[in-house]
Amino acid sequence: MAKLKVALYWAASCGGCEISILDIGAKILDFVAGAEIVFWPCAMDFKYHHVEAMPDGSIDLTLFNGAIRTSENEYMAKLFRRKSKVLVAYGSCAYEGGIPGLANVTDREGIFKRVYDTTPSTKNPKGIRPQTKTKVPEGELRLPEFYDTVKTLAQTVDVDYFVPGCPPTGERTWEVLEAILGNNLPEKGSVVGAGQKTVCDECPRTKNEKKIKAFVRPHLVIPDPDVCLLEQGIFCAGFATRDGCGAQCIQVNMPCRGCYGPPPKVIDQGAKIVSALGSIIDAEEPEEINRILDQIPNPIGYFYRFGLPYSILRRRVIK
Ligand code: SF4
Repeated sequence: MAKLKVALYWAASCGGCEISILDIGAKILDFVAGAEIVFWPCAMDFKYHHVEAMPDGSIDLTLFNGAIRTSENEYMAKLFRRKSKVLVAYGSCAYEGGIPGLANVTDREGIFKRVYDTTPSTKNPKGIRPQTKTKVPEGELRLPEFYDTVKTLAQTVDVDYFVPGCPPTGERTWEVLEAILGNNLPEKGSVVGAGQKTVCDECPRTKNEKKIKAFVRPHLVIPDPDVCLLEQGIFCAGFATRDGCGAQCIQVNMPCRGCYGPPPKVIDQGAKIVSALGSIIDAEEPEEINRILDQIPNPIGYFYRFGLPYSILRRRVIK
């Protein structure tokens, strides 16, 4: 039987998703027994022109990780869409925008000003900024255009499946690869490699009535290992996050950060968090409610850590 042609690509992301493929462990041997890797820049030396030369639709599967932040990311998303039969948004950044998507609280100028002007380690008296085209004696150097807004993969091209996680766990990645190798995929547009409930549902901690009088940051306390972290005042996004990760963070006393995205039927993860917090904060006077909420240091970072571009808000409006 012919092997499936598989590509992996890394757009605006930390690269952890590419490495996470290796978390399937020895099953990588089963994977390569059924798949021929035709592009995987982190592991093998392929060039963009190799992909450009392939016939359209000739790649059976592309696992595309990373958000769309630059013209290069966008070009590659469109190229892989054209060349691939099945395009998968693999990991939080491709699916929801991920951590890079938090840049949507500002714009290109805001980011460039910080990076090239005001960071304590920067000395740039001439205010030099990267240019998309620069003439040098040898010719013209080009850089991709840096966009104002980070987008998800599906806001850029048609996507067949979505695999959440920052990064997806090895077990769930193998489930997805097995389903693809066995041609056993669900309906187009499905979230795969994840569950249908919330992280709270797979969390082994004891849950009682939640009444929060104060929030504490996780590094300032040693939490009770058996009781719900949220009940102990540690902000945990498990109630607003899709299950499938095995509650791995919570089992090592770290709160859920929300990387598997909203659970089924929840459109906006941050809005779900805001509404739930409204019902569990144990205070009546507005001053007291504000005092408790002020203990969450960076609400947009906590509530939309992995999904600002995917949310209803998408980005901050800058006039
Ligand atoms: Fe577990 Fe966090 Fe849900 Fe509490 S809020 S039950 S710690 S996942």
